Parts: sequence; C-alpha cells; structure tokens
Amino acid sequence: MKPAPFKYLAPDTLAEALTAVQEHGYDAKLLAGGQSLIPVMNFRLAQPGVLIDINRIPGLDAIQGNGVSRGVLRLGAMARHRQLEHDPVVAALAPLIQQTMPFVAHPQIRNRGTLGGTLAHADPAAELPVVMTALQARFRLQKVGGERWVNADDFFIGLFATDLGVDEMIVEVEAPPLPPRTGCAFHEVARRHGDYALAGVAAVVTLDESGNCQSARLVYLNAGEGPVTAVKAAAMLTGETLTDDLIAEAAHVAANEEIAPESDIHATADFRRHLAKVLTQRALKEAGAKAAGKNQKAKR
Ligand SMILES: Cc1cc2nc3c(=O)[nH]c(=O)nc-3n(C[C@H](O)[C@H](O)[C@H](O)COP(=O)(O)OP(=O)(O)OC[C@H]3O[C@@H](n4cnc5c(N)ncnc54)[C@H](O)[C@@H]3O)c2cc1C
Repeated sequence: MKPAPFKYLAPDTLAEALTAVQEHGYDAKLLAGGQSLIPVMNFRLAQPGVLIDINRIPGLDAIQGNGVSRGVLRLGAMARHRQLEHDPVVAALAPLIQQTMPFVAHPQIRNRGTLGGTLAHADPAAELPVVMTALQARFRLQKVGGERWVNADDFFIGLFATDLGVDEMIVEVEAPPLPPRTGCAFHEVARRHGDYALAGVAAVVTLDESGNCQSARLVYLNAGEGPVTAVKAAAMLTGETLTDDLIAEAAHVAANEEIAPESDIHATADFRRHLAKVLTQRALKEAGAKAAGKNQKAKR
C-alpha cells in the first residue's frame, strides 16, 4: 500500500518545526525515523495532511553526560537507536539502555528509529518506554513560546497515548544518575530475535551498605496499556536481603497481581504472566548481583 497524499515540510530549525506543528495541529505528524509512522501511513491507519520531517534540525541527536550536572545523561530526541546502543557515555551512565538496545527490532531499523519517535509512539510492547520509566527519566516537551518537563511515570497515559500536546514535540530526555551500588537488567522473550517481545521486564536494584535492598524498580512491557510498574513487588524487596525465595515471591506477586497482559494470537495472558514471573526472577538476580559488584548474568 502507498500512503494517502500529504504535504511534506522539512524545516531546518527547531523554531520552524515548532511553528509548523502549531500551525497544522492535528492534521500534521512529525517524521523522525519513520519506522512506525510510515508503515501506519502505508496501511492508511494514519492519513496526516502534512508531514514535518525533523531529520534536518541540527543538534537534536546530541548525547551528553558528566557535564555541569554530573552523572545526568541527556539524550536528544533524534538520537538513533544505534547511537544509544553504541555510545560510550550511554554505556557508562545508563548501562540499562545499552543492554536493552539489541532487543529493539533489527539493526536496519535501529539505524533509523529514534528515541523521541519510540517514546511518542508509546507502543506498550516497546522497550525504551519501559527502560526510561525504570530509570525514572524525564522528558522535555517544547512548543512555540514554552517548554515543560514530564516524568516518564506521568507521560504514558494509555494505549499508544501520551501526555504530549498536539502543539508539542519531545526535544530531550534526561536520566538521573544511578545511586552507588545500583545494578540494572533487562530480560524479554520474543518468538524470533528482533520481534516485538511477548513479555519483558527492566529491573533496577540499589543495595544499602550492608547489602540489603535499599530500593527496587520493576517495569514491564506488553503487560498493560503502557509501561507497567510493579509497586507492590518492589516494596516487598525494600529493606530485605535478596534471597532466591524472596525474589520468587516478589516475582509471583508482580506477575499475578500487578500486570494485566492480554491474550492474542501470539500468546495467552496466562503464558505471558508465566514468562513475566520467570523473567522477573532472572532480572532481579542479575541486577542484584551487579549492584553487589558481581558483574554476572543470571543463570537461565
Ligand atoms: C519491523 C519492525 C520491527 C520493530 N520492532 C521493534 C521492537 O522490537 N521494539 C521496539 O521498541 N520498536 C520496534 N519497532 C519500532 C521502532 O523502534 C521505531 O523506531 C519506533 O517505534 C519509532 O521511532 P521512529 O523514530 O521511527 O518514529 P516515527 O515512526 O518517525 O514516528 C512515530 C510517532 O512519533 C511521533 N514523533 C516522532 N518524533 C517525535 C518527537 N520528537 N516528538 C513528538 N512526536 C514525535 C511521530 O509523529 C509519530 O506519530 C519496529 C519497527 C519495525 C518496522
């Protein structure tokens, strides 16, 4: 299929892009990597009258860290998936992002797909919204004459739905520094490598000086209408020693009480819950071991 006719704009500056977004409103779509938008247009599920291509705007793909705000990772909205996968600053400040990127689609798609595009698209099966929620990142949204920051926790508001206003654009993502003794892990199961996953989880674990769990975050993909955070399971771990039994109990609670996966042609909801439980145990063990300075992968 070919898309319905549209007008193509290619602004050279952010100001021009924001003006075009304001002018055309609901009739316009921003074109970033095009890896989700173009297929949707080809199927005519979206028929924007105007495409605003933001690929020519300089500086929107910048990756910065360890600058004025030490340890804060700042990622431009047009940072490509492959940049996130290979950039040494990302690997040093937010290893969870780097660990997760090989699971996102295929190298060809990662060459084009962007951070801002995947966050705005808000697919509940996508990895980066989950990772950014687990890292407690925040997003800078800009429009003509103003900007605001929105926490990842508040940004994803439903199925393919976000807090982004019709006249706004994501320009930057900021991930706070990880506390000392923090380990992260991402695990997912897909039928074929590079497919959207059946289930997946990101875990971030911080240990206190005595080696007990000071805080934990568990965020799931394909477990609801957007990234799903397992608050109860994380609370069970806080202040405790991360034994295998406790991890198994927390994984059980997360998988059976906190996530809400759907059945579809790929897997039943029950199978997804089973996967989530197993993946949670792996992710927590790996994150806990990394936080304790044992840089090892969980056994499968
Ligand atoms: C075969 C295939 C397999 C894939 N597998 C996976 C996978 O396993 N996991 C995964 O996470 N993704 C997967 N994807 C999607 C891929 O990661 C896309 O790159 C991503 O979803 C969208 O990014 P994009 O830059 O291409 O955005 P685009 O397609 O250009 O845009 C997507 C939407 O975001 C809006 N938008 C873009 N940039 C901004 C911005 N800065 N501010 C506001 N709105 C904006 C657009 O208007 C559009 O509505 C797959 C894609 C394909 C084609």
